[in-house]
Amino acid sequence: MQRNNFGGNIRVHPQSMYTPASEQEVLEILDRHHGQRIRCVGRLHSWSRAVECNDVLLDLRRLNQVDPIADGESLLASAGAGCQIKHLLSELERLRNWTLPSLGLITEQTVAGAVSTGTHGSGKNSMSQYVVSVRIAHYDSASGKATVTEISSGDALRAARCSLGCLGVILSVKMKCRPCYNVEEAFHEHERLADVIAAEDRYPLQQFFLVPWRWTYMSQYRRETERPASKTAWLYHWYRYLTIDISMLLAILLIVRVLGIDAVIRFMFRRIIPAFVIRDWHVVSSSSSQLVMEHEQFRHIELEVFVQKSDLESAMSFVRQTLCIAAGTDNAIDESYREQLVSVGLETQLNEVSGIYCHHFPICIRKVLQDDTLISMASPAESESQEDSAQAWYAITFTCYSGSRDQAAFHKLGSFLTHSMAALFAARPHWGKLGYLQPDKLRALYPQFEVFQECCQTFDPDGLFQNDWTSELLRNNR
Ligand SMILES: Cc1cc2nc3c(=O)[nH]c(=O)nc-3n(C[C@H](O)[C@H](O)[C@H](O)COP(=O)(O)OP(=O)(O)OC[C@H]3O[C@@H](n4cnc5c(N)ncnc54)[C@H](O)[C@@H]3O)c2cc1C
Repeated sequence: MQRNNFGGNIRVHPQSMYTPASEQEVLEILDRHHGQRIRCVGRLHSWSRAVECNDVLLDLRRLNQVDPIADGESLLASAGAGCQIKHLLSELERLRNWTLPSLGLITEQTVAGAVSTGTHGSGKNSMSQYVVSVRIAHYDSASGKATVTEISSGDALRAARCSLGCLGVILSVKMKCRPCYNVEEAFHEHERLADVIAAEDRYPLQQFFLVPWRWTYMSQYRRETERPASKTAWLYHWYRYLTIDISMLLAILLIVRVLGIDAVIRFMFRRIIPAFVIRDWHVVSSSSSQLVMEHEQFRHIELEVFVQKSDLESAMSFVRQTLCIAAGTDNAIDESYREQLVSVGLETQLNEVSGIYCHHFPICIRKVLQDDTLISMASPAESESQEDSAQAWYAITFTCYSGSRDQAAFHKLGSFLTHSMAALFAARPHWGKLGYLQPDKLRALYPQFEVFQECCQTFDPDGLFQNDWTSELLRNNR
């Protein structure tokens, strides 16, 4: 019995696997397997070790009911843990003309999977922030029998909003919703990061891309609007799908996997790809079509790190210099860059990545507002959370389309970037994407990690809902 994750970098081979159809069935499975380690998966769209499982695996895809609830002023929806985001969106729209306040780039994930790793889009909080309660199956500490607890307040809720599967089996999630709305979108190219950030006031939902080898920023300007959908929205979506989601990727796959010529990659990003991006075509369409792209068409691996706004400018120049060194195009290393590496004792590690890898995909940057959670990547950097939008985080994504046999160079570079950026900018790796940091370094990035550990201890004192990776992460080295 074996299942692979989306990226093909993790193989899950449990001894037993179940797809229960009711909460009662989940409880029976837990009682039957008491003493063994139990983990859940959603759609295995994570690249991280959070999905590993060797013993008992639960896939809750059959728990996918959607119940919209109007509670006074609040619009809420209860969704089964295994409900895919795309199903939740279509049901909310069909039943009430509602939608979700925040979405990632794709909608293949399950509700439980998406919130468990702090899945996010741009310009809003991560999806975890909108969770108001979570039903969890775990073992009762007195009787040892499987039981259900609904978590709806305090530190337990803040832990359950992004829990890496460590509290127990999530059965359903209640989330805030909102009426459907439209988003205006247009592409715009900037030379300087400062100009991209300045556009945030007008386009608070924007995401942007550092175009490698051209070193400009391509912004996807986005803002909520009262205007009706444009007549050309269908044409725009076809254009975006065919040029960005399909043609650009086919060209990258051809060059990276078949030709393998770095100079062609660099030429393509300098001259060809930008020529296909139509600038300043402002199109209005529903949020669920504008904010979502078809990024799951081709298998790939991803690394993502979160830095605070105050570090973004330095982090991006660090990224640019690192990518040039990794591709062997920049032999004259900037003195301030070298000093940065010396200050964190990583100068010699730079030699190991020099000239090994030519990056071949735009680096996506998304703003994520500070979450009220314990360990989502956008959780507060200080132990005292402040309600301040200046506390926003920026997620920087590195995507690799090399074939699985040629990914070693990307992993080396990814490890270097993760370690150096954690040391220099306290950069936090996405819990659902490639992770290279040791548990102690990860814990140190989250001032409320100890509170998270305590919550896990309360719900799972014997560590039965852990895999090897989360066990090491939760080990209490205080
Ligand atoms: C093409 C692609 C695009 C992506 N785009 C984005 C993006 O735009 N933004 C972003 O932030 N992330 C993005 N991701 C990452 C993705 O959103 C997360 O990794 C997410 O966790 C995957 O959800 P899943 O349902 O596949 O869960 P899985 O990957 O299967 O599981 C994730 C975690 O959730 C736990 N879990 C799942 N179900 C349960 C349950 N019922 N009870 C307890 N724990 C459970 C698992 O144990 C695991 O720890 C992307 C991934 C891919 C492949």
